[in-house]
Amino acid sequence: MKIIADLQLHSKYSRAVSQDMVLPKMSAAAKVKGIDLLATGDWMHPLWMSEVKAGLTEWSQGIYAAKENPDGAKFLLSAEISSIFSIAGKTYRVHTLVFSPSIDTCLKINEALRRRGANLSSDGRPIVGLSCQAIADIVFTIDNRCLVIPAHAWTPWFSVYGSKGGFDSLTDAFGPFTDQIYAIETGLSSDPAMNWRIKELENRAVVSFSDAHSPPKLGREATVFAPKTTNYDLRTTNYSYSDIYWAIAERFLGKNNGNLKISYTIEFYPEEGKYHWDGHRVCGVVHSPQDTRDRGVTCPVCGRPLTVGVEYRVDELADKQLKDLQPVTKPNTKGLVGYFHPTDTTRPPYVKLVPLLEIMAEVYESSVASKKIKEAYSGLTQALGSEFAALLDATESELHAAGGVRVAEAVMRVRRGDIVVDPGYDGVFGTVKIWGEKKQETTQQQMGLF
Ligand SMILES: [Zn+2]
Ligand SMILES: [Zn+2]
Repeated sequence: MKIIADLQLHSKYSRAVSQDMVLPKMSAAAKVKGIDLLATGDWMHPLWMSEVKAGLTEWSQGIYAAKENPDGAKFLLSAEISSIFSIAGKTYRVHTLVFSPSIDTCLKINEALRRRGANLSSDGRPIVGLSCQAIADIVFTIDNRCLVIPAHAWTPWFSVYGSKGGFDSLTDAFGPFTDQIYAIETGLSSDPAMNWRIKELENRAVVSFSDAHSPPKLGREATVFAPKTTNYDLRTTNYSYSDIYWAIAERFLGKNNGNLKISYTIEFYPEEGKYHWDGHRVCGVVHSPQDTRDRGVTCPVCGRPLTVGVEYRVDELADKQLKDLQPVTKPNTKGLVGYFHPTDTTRPPYVKLVPLLEIMAEVYESSVASKKIKEAYSGLTQALGSEFAALLDATESELHAAGGVRVAEAVMRVRRGDIVVDPGYDGVFGTVKIWGEKKQETTQQQMGLF
């Protein structure tokens, strides 16, 4: 038994989010995906908080069930806050996740944020002028059982390590509260191995969530929790917020008073993330990190600074001794490759997947939004139980029986990593090719032709 958890997502009250991000539809989508635990998202927003209070009921301490669907996915109170602030003339823009053990704690934090001038009604992910340090101070003063986790920690514009709006270290960002930051979230454009190269992350957990803005995007990244010992049975016991808390805090605190541990994380191919490489979207310029090292960060077309992506930035902040760290790969009996830390066996491993709709779209040569793909997708997920059952658990012959030979081959290729991904850059998602050649050339390679 395991708990597949997606603890970063947004409600319909956040900017650019689908009107379908409401509790009953999130719960229904979680069932199709095979997700056991979802974030509520956005508990700082007063209207969303009213829907959370009306729609959920406490299932165990700090974990909630939907009143309409009590046996479906459970919910944990998680919100994201956007801080924009200046220190010594430099402007920082950082997104931070806050997990809370109770609605009472959420309400107290909201009240404190309002007193500090935050307008919580403007957006589900409120924009505040408070520093990372000020937010940590408010949250931990109210309830030290909260978790404060830097969100999508490497994206250029809005993250703790971002090339455009971030810091060079957690200490610079969180000051005296750094010792209460137990984890960071990878974001779509980085994977755990990239984070393992950072010295100050050696004793911190690395978690992955979807940051979904619509139900179909739920679970595109996730963290899987499992019982710490075999005598803890998830079928007969309701896990609590504190079990999730300890699983995340264990690495930093060196102890675990809960019943769960992080088993592994489910990752997007980081190249598919929209800030993996460097470039300028409007100028059509793409640079690999090596191109940027050779040619600098100025756009050859418009002369302005390029948006430096995640791979380059990780390299910049990586520890000298850890710079060349590469994961060790081992397939399981289903052909799914696990990526393991080369020396530290206490690090949870990870797997890399491609969303099933994208796989189906390539198999049937149709768009993910087409009726044909939606029908094929729902047929397959119903036959096998869920999307994660198809991607992680089904045998090749079960996939074949449920979806045909091409689908089975495509899923097996994704599990093995036998696919090609053209890296994303400056807000453009990377593209996955299960069959076929790498198309995209970097600007430097193109220029080399002339
Ligand atoms: Zn964010
Ligand atoms: Zn440009």
